[in-house]
Amino acid sequence: MITELEVVAKGGLLYNIGRVALRAEGNFNEENFVEKGREWIEKHLKNDDSALKIAKSLQEKDELFFLWKEAHSLACKNEDIKYFTPNPIISPFYKIRNPNNLNETLNKIPYYQLQSEKPQIAIYNKPIINHENYRRLIEKFKKDLQSTKPPYGINLLTMLMEKHLSNIPLGSPFDDVSMFRHCVLVSAISGCLYLYLKEKRRDKDFSVASIVDCLSSEKPFLLVGGDLSGIQKFIYTITSKGALRALKGRSFYIELLIEHIVNEIIDNLNLTRCNIVFSAGGNFCIVSPNTDNAVSELDKLKSRIETFLFNEFKGELQLHLEYIAFGEESFKNSASVSDGLGEKLEKSKKTGWQKRLKDILKPESPHENCLTTQCDVCFREDVSLVSLQRGDEALQVCEPCYFQYKLGEELLEISEGISPVIYRLSEQPQGDYVKIEKFYYCFRRSRDEKLENLADKIYRINNFNAENYNKPNNIFLPLGIYKKRGLKELTDAVSDFGINRLAVLRMDVDNLGKIFGSAIAEQERTFARISEISNRLNQFFKYHLNYIAEGKEIDSLDIAERGVKNKGRNLMIIYSGGDDVFILGHWLDVIETAFDIRRYFELFTGNRFLTISGGIAINQDSYPVYQYARDAEELERLAKRDNKKDSLALLDDRKVGWNSFDEVIERIRLFKKFLKTESNGFVIDEQKLPKTFFYGLFSLAKVFRKEGILVLPKAAYLISRAKFNNCADEDVLSIKEVIMNSNEKEWEITELATLVTLMLMRKGGRDHE
Ligand SMILES: [Zn+2]
Repeated sequence: MITELEVVAKGGLLYNIGRVALRAEGNFNEENFVEKGREWIEKHLKNDDSALKIAKSLQEKDELFFLWKEAHSLACKNEDIKYFTPNPIISPFYKIRNPNNLNETLNKIPYYQLQSEKPQIAIYNKPIINHENYRRLIEKFKKDLQSTKPPYGINLLTMLMEKHLSNIPLGSPFDDVSMFRHCVLVSAISGCLYLYLKEKRRDKDFSVASIVDCLSSEKPFLLVGGDLSGIQKFIYTITSKGALRALKGRSFYIELLIEHIVNEIIDNLNLTRCNIVFSAGGNFCIVSPNTDNAVSELDKLKSRIETFLFNEFKGELQLHLEYIAFGEESFKNSASVSDGLGEKLEKSKKTGWQKRLKDILKPESPHENCLTTQCDVCFREDVSLVSLQRGDEALQVCEPCYFQYKLGEELLEISEGISPVIYRLSEQPQGDYVKIEKFYYCFRRSRDEKLENLADKIYRINNFNAENYNKPNNIFLPLGIYKKRGLKELTDAVSDFGINRLAVLRMDVDNLGKIFGSAIAEQERTFARISEISNRLNQFFKYHLNYIAEGKEIDSLDIAERGVKNKGRNLMIIYSGGDDVFILGHWLDVIETAFDIRRYFELFTGNRFLTISGGIAINQDSYPVYQYARDAEELERLAKRDNKKDSLALLDDRKVGWNSFDEVIERIRLFKKFLKTESNGFVIDEQKLPKTFFYGLFSLAKVFRKEGILVLPKAAYLISRAKFNNCADEDVLSIKEVIMNSNEKEWEITELATLVTLMLMRKGGRDHE
């Protein structure tokens, strides 16, 4: 049974498809795109009842057609969309000005290629495209459609449009907004208008007059915002017992929880996933109709989830769910509605659990199981404990920790799968699961035939393969999931090359508030553009990051020439999404990845005003994970201190701007020429340098930092003791220049390069100085 709403939402998504079809024929005057769209739908979405209805409405130009037309106009602020000649899409980040100097704009336009790469890279030489490129693109789209069966559900179509239409522009004046993002927005607006008119106009009057009337005088939409607070503390306050699994499990639990809440809103308000404007990092934003039904459902949901979280986590996690009504104007300039929503969320956060103060203050004696003990993972003592077998050791943990640990265990498992899946079931399945409210979530490395039929929702992780989307309940879910194969315990990542150490990287985009605020001129802050930017950021951190972290398919940094491109990186993504990352692994892999992320981020946005900073905490594997998390956070804060962001902070509070970091790497490469490389570390080549050379250099650097002078006799002595046999003259000259130097900045670089080189030389964890 198809519902009219389904026709409306799907029709909104497909309303502009004719433009793409025309471009593929070399017809860049898109006046007849509606007619072309109808033809395309009839031809390629055969035997699909709702598609037929859409085609009919497009042909007869009935009320639904006007609904889509109006939704389209709203999404592109009533501008006439022109294409003229085949132009590539402009990077959606192009309009972002320098957040520290709003008068500064990019002087070159960054473009994306039509075909998506992994990861996407912006280029400044405008790529030349023609109808042939479009033809190939739409052929692939058609081929994907052919590999599935009707009905072509909205989730399948959205996934396919994301796959194929993300890198083509809507058209002028929105050359930086993708066809995909625009179509999704048109679908969302269509659905909202439909539901609004259905409730507010008794005779279900969808006439043009009625639509225009409601848009001109009413606020038919709601912007719904969600924000989960307490995440940091929830994820990182854990003991060292089973840390890797508990950490991964907890961090993913948050993502699942947000997905669960978003889903409940979508389902209870009769929306589709097109209505999700944004969802990542514990935040989400949904556009809904401003109907009494939506408001009452939202209020019900809010209190239901609140109760669930309170009972499950005793107030540690709290959902702030707010909404604000808006009308036509906000599609042109979303600033006031998003600021308004932000204020409401802030206010809610300040209020905290005030309404539940009585529950919180209620004296609670420890659970009888906990009179002498507490949860081995999270220290909780108010609930019964269960036994968790971990190798030879049995942990006593609370139930939520038990499930999160199991979740972490399964995630470690499924991240090694080819096409990982999450099944949502409403009945208790066999084996392990995570339960949120009344639903059970099961994880598999690949398709599970039995669960396939039982599940009411199926999440396909990073899976763009159309064949897997045969049923309408299949949902595409991008997820930062990379993990080195076989990495199961922290100790697995400790020894790889050089000194035995682990590292945690925390990193996020600088000035994010300004980027979505003042950095984009107010008249440019359209709903579609803001949504495009936030989703692209999320795409980078959730999808592309997997390739960057693995290091195999990119031009990865490989300081010690260990063969990163072949073996990948020894690390795992604990969390990534929105605009930030948390990565844990071998120290060298983590440093190199930080560098790669920054480099690819700049390539991705094509906008040098968008910078990224991070902190890397390096320590032994016995060091508590929560302490790593805290140290890395502290270092990240240091990297972002003052106006000089765009930096990395590591190793006893050293802050290095990324540009200097390039020089550090160059210097390490120079040092490497005087060293021998063994399988697990550098060793001194005594034909070239004396054994203690780098210790000597390091102490010279330290003296320079403290006193600002070069101790000349010591520098000369250092050089005089080197044999430099079989060394290239220019390398010898370079290293002498490094030593005989009285430039402060140069010595800063030398000091850090020497320190890293010494770390690369220490094997087997022998930490003698
Ligand atoms: Zn616990």
